[in-house]
Amino acid sequence: MNLLKDFKNPQLAKKLSGAIAETVGDRPFSIMEVCGGQTHTIYKYKLREMLPANLRLVSGPGCPVCVTPIEYIDKAVSLGLDHGARIITFGDLMRVPGTQMSLERAAAEGVDVQPVYSPFQALEAAKANPAKEVVFLGIGFETTLPGIGLVIQQAEKAGVKNFSVLLSAKRVPPVLKAVLSSGVAEIDGFITPGHVTAIIGTKAYDTLCASYSVPMAVGGFEPIDLLGAIHVLVGELTGNGSSNLNAYTRAVSHEGNLKAQQVIKQVFEERDDELRGLGIIPKAGYGIRAEFAQHDAGQRFDIVTDSHEPKGCICGEILCGIKEPVDCPLFGSICSPDAPVGSCMVSNEGACNAAYLFKD
Ligand code: SF4
Repeated sequence: MNLLKDFKNPQLAKKLSGAIAETVGDRPFSIMEVCGGQTHTIYKYKLREMLPANLRLVSGPGCPVCVTPIEYIDKAVSLGLDHGARIITFGDLMRVPGTQMSLERAAAEGVDVQPVYSPFQALEAAKANPAKEVVFLGIGFETTLPGIGLVIQQAEKAGVKNFSVLLSAKRVPPVLKAVLSSGVAEIDGFITPGHVTAIIGTKAYDTLCASYSVPMAVGGFEPIDLLGAIHVLVGELTGNGSSNLNAYTRAVSHEGNLKAQQVIKQVFEERDDELRGLGIIPKAGYGIRAEFAQHDAGQRFDIVTDSHEPKGCICGEILCGIKEPVDCPLFGSICSPDAPVGSCMVSNEGACNAAYLFKD
């Protein structure tokens, strides 16, 4: 298959949507796409409009910028403003509003903020400026964590004392467990995230499928990938199955990436953690292990914040699958990608951002 052409093939998409409609019949189902990248594809290619009305796609909590608590942004701003650190971050995070200001605004007020594409650039910046505290903003799910872990290991090995990471790293399986146990979103099946599952393997969901009798299928990011995942999921749903399926075999295996898993295990430890809108979830995050404490910005600096969610923003309910972007009274009027009120409008993996960009 040609990735650029065939995974976007409209004839194939039509065939698959016909097969999905035939399988579903008139039974109502709700399927959650967990990853924000998948949400973006669904809006961009209008996949919802290709599906029967009784098959509902619900956006999930897999956008890393969106689930990062506002307190984290406030801490990052404080590290720059009050502690004089250079803040190095993935670009998306710069525009997320904090309680007082975003990192973009902090930069305009003189804080040293540098956007990068890789955590390794942060380590290089620390080596080049030994007199300056350099803090990398390490957010994300299991996909980004091995890279952050490797950088911490390298900093430790090279004795770079002015490099640390402000960590807000999340784990997908406990978050899905929280969505399932809360029952509020009434989800019948899940399209699990392609990038994350390439690291942790489909094995990470075996217990969830069995304990909650819910089917899951890992999906990729192209329209045909997603329609393929939906097709196998509705097959399970109509047959009352709860299998843990792989509809993204070109990138994902049952075992996942063992080397990446090893790095995660060496540098980080699981802990209870907060996600925006979902609250504190058992074992949903990672902390940096004690042996790397000097590279943990949360331990190195005394950071005090007084954080509040923006008034009127319903990102939390959108991330839980209870509401949709258009349900927010601020959507498109007060809140837009040029003037975001909440994190879901900032990131190109955010549901509000996708709904705004691809609205008719
Ligand atoms: S539209 Fe804006 S204010 Fe409303 S939920 Fe989305 S990000 Fe929050």
